[in-house]
Amino acid sequence: MIVLEDVRKHYGALEVIKGVSAEVATGEVVCIIGPSGSGKSTLLRCINGLEAYDGGEIRVGGQRVERDARSIKAIRTRVSMVFQRFNLFANRTALENVVEGPLYVKGEPRAEAEARAAALLARVGLSGKEHARPDQLSGGQQQRVAIARALAMRPDAILFDEPTSALDPELVGDVLRVMRGLADEGMTMMVVTHEIGFAREVADRVLFLDGGRLVEQGPAAEVLNRPQNPRTRDFLQRVL
Ligand code: ADP
Ligand code: MG
Repeated sequence: MIVLEDVRKHYGALEVIKGVSAEVATGEVVCIIGPSGSGKSTLLRCINGLEAYDGGEIRVGGQRVERDARSIKAIRTRVSMVFQRFNLFANRTALENVVEGPLYVKGEPRAEAEARAAALLARVGLSGKEHARPDQLSGGQQQRVAIARALAMRPDAILFDEPTSALDPELVGDVLRVMRGLADEGMTMMVVTHEIGFAREVADRVLFLDGGRLVEQGPAAEVLNRPQNPRTRDFLQRVL
């Protein structure tokens, strides 16, 4: 579903992604772990066209991620992203946030988009909150609205960038439960996270990124329980 071949990315003279190759198969859940500044967010942002990469190739569903507006729009309809800070429209209700993409990007009829949005909000445990604005919702509820919004695009894959890092600890579980449900239903997911427990239980594979390089990757149990690379070992010791 997602193929990265020797992907590189610079900010000015600084190379922050240094030749990353990886694949995510349909229905697979891949967690990306690594220290702050290792390029995790940048890598996700390159995959759905929020950032331009400048070397190698990224393909989603066989389609090369290019810089032109048409290609980017096509990629965004296939790959949704969930951000650390939710990125909801502050002055719109939960329902309006969820229907935005289907209405204006996909051109779905309003009645249909709204009915599906209500069903998606119910699925993430937010029945009755359709007309609440973000400031009337907890962080965990806002993040679940963001997940419903991502699902509303009927994506082939969802990219999550530290979806629980901005949440109070007691709200993390609800969001992880929703994500686990998606994984169980076969959604293709790439998840940047420091929730090692989630990675261990839900991820098929784990990638460890350090200094813009993919230092280690493999089945979750192997990378997390028996890391081969000393830097992976150091990192896990610090976060566990
Ligand atoms: P992570 O998500 O793993 O913490 P990032 O992908 O955010 O790492 O950042 C990787 C590197 O790129 C860091 O050195 C960061 O300072 C740099 N960086 C990120 N975004 C920008 C930007 N817009 N302009 C310049 N440098 C950036
Ligand atoms: Mg980041």
